[in-house]
Amino acid sequence: MQNLKEIWKSVVAKIEPVVGRNIVVTWFNNTALFSVENQIALIGVPSVFARDWMNSKYNEILVNLINSFGFDVEKVSYEIDAKLYDRDDIRAIRLVEDNKQQKTKTVMTQGRKMPHKEEVMVKGLRSKRLNNRYSLGNFIVGQSTRLAHAAASAVANRPGENYNPLFIYGGVGLGKTHLLHATGNAIIDNFPTAAVVYTTAENFVNEIVAGIKNFKMDDIKKMYRNIDCLIIDDIQFLGQRERTQEEFFHTFNELYDNHKQIILSSDRAPRELKGIEDRLRSRFEMGMIVDVSLPDYETRLAILMEKAQEQEAIIPKDVLEFIAYNVNENVRTLEGVLLQAIAKAKLENVMPTVKMVARYIEKFDAKIEIQGENHKYQPNNGIAKSIDDVIDIVCAYYKVSRNDLQGNVRRREYLMPRQVSMFLSRVELNQSFERIGGEFGGRNHTTVMHACEKIKELLANDHNLVRDVNAIKREMGL
Ligand code: ADP
Ligand code: MG
Repeated sequence: MQNLKEIWKSVVAKIEPVVGRNIVVTWFNNTALFSVENQIALIGVPSVFARDWMNSKYNEILVNLINSFGFDVEKVSYEIDAKLYDRDDIRAIRLVEDNKQQKTKTVMTQGRKMPHKEEVMVKGLRSKRLNNRYSLGNFIVGQSTRLAHAAASAVANRPGENYNPLFIYGGVGLGKTHLLHATGNAIIDNFPTAAVVYTTAENFVNEIVAGIKNFKMDDIKKMYRNIDCLIIDDIQFLGQRERTQEEFFHTFNELYDNHKQIILSSDRAPRELKGIEDRLRSRFEMGMIVDVSLPDYETRLAILMEKAQEQEAIIPKDVLEFIAYNVNENVRTLEGVLLQAIAKAKLENVMPTVKMVARYIEKFDAKIEIQGENHKYQPNNGIAKSIDDVIDIVCAYYKVSRNDLQGNVRRREYLMPRQVSMFLSRVELNQSFERIGGEFGGRNHTTVMHACEKIKELLANDHNLVRDVNAIKREMGL
């Protein structure tokens, strides 16, 4: 019989193809199989998050996989043991090599002192230092970022081959810079001698302007020829100067023709970029264009768990859920609320509570009562941010009762307001179909999806509905 550690290793190896490498590294690193007794497999996990995560998703598959090693367990249970984080604890399996983790740790502490400012020279060119805090592994993948993450991973494995340039666009705080750093880091991990330059469009322009002024443009061009990967963040700031765009155009072609990887980010799609010459725009469109958008509730929760873990902070699940539920403008804000709560809790040496974090959420500013566990709050000056608010406003608008709206009766006078509520919860509040279904008497997520599709279709032709929806949106404070 193999020992428990070997068995656990094999179990996790078998889970990987099912759930993906990211999830495995995030949640199964530093875990152990403590014992198999009385038909119960006891799994050691280093944090409450790992336990909750596994408990909510993997109990069944774990039972099956463990039994495939000749056991007859009926269920799994978990024991939290922070010692498992300790590299000397031989019970746990390690999924990230030692040196890599060490490297991340040192750079993390350095990074905190001087975030982003640090510059390095790469083959004579100025580059920002890649921030090791950002990796493809700690980027949480959800529906809204799946393609971007997959493209970034593909580029990291085969730079300069298929997706060139890689163009990532989307609103602020949605993970573009994170993905750019992460891809750069991964390229260097895979190809340690690769010369990767990371810069912002602003810095790039400055460099070119200086080069032109000092008649050094030829030298600069030569240097760009020597690098393997050029990453430019926020390309929308490339500027409108003809000469800069001209130089950039040549640099781009040079790199591209030599199969050097180019990665760009922008706040909008190439065709929406203003003041950029057409020939450049069409260069941007030659490779892979992917967007990042707002994550849904489940993804926001997973991001919070990841960030809390990075901070080595223990946050009660209801607090994380509360933040995930109520903060949906972007990930940066989401993270900001969490970090404020962690800082405050550390300072006062207490556990963060729902009440505490509510203070860091803008919409709760105006002293709104938090009603215990259910995460509901009174609408603030007509600004609706929860499904519950939408329901209130829609009921008032169509003069139907909450019971009728949330109920099952399929009369048009209820059905339409019901579907409008679902649509607005989805489109304006970015709530997941599951959650919306839950608020409407546990309806299936496909029902909600159909409702949203239906309203979307109707809005194309039905002027009365357009008027109603616009009026409701105004009531919602939009
Ligand atoms: P952008 O460049 O799009 O404005 P950033 O990449 O700076 O956004 O992201 C803002 C913050 O949110 C960063 O700390 C980043 O790590 C975090 N973040 C964004 N999306 C994710 C994600 N999917 N998983 C983990 N962290 C994320
Ligand atoms: Mg950015």
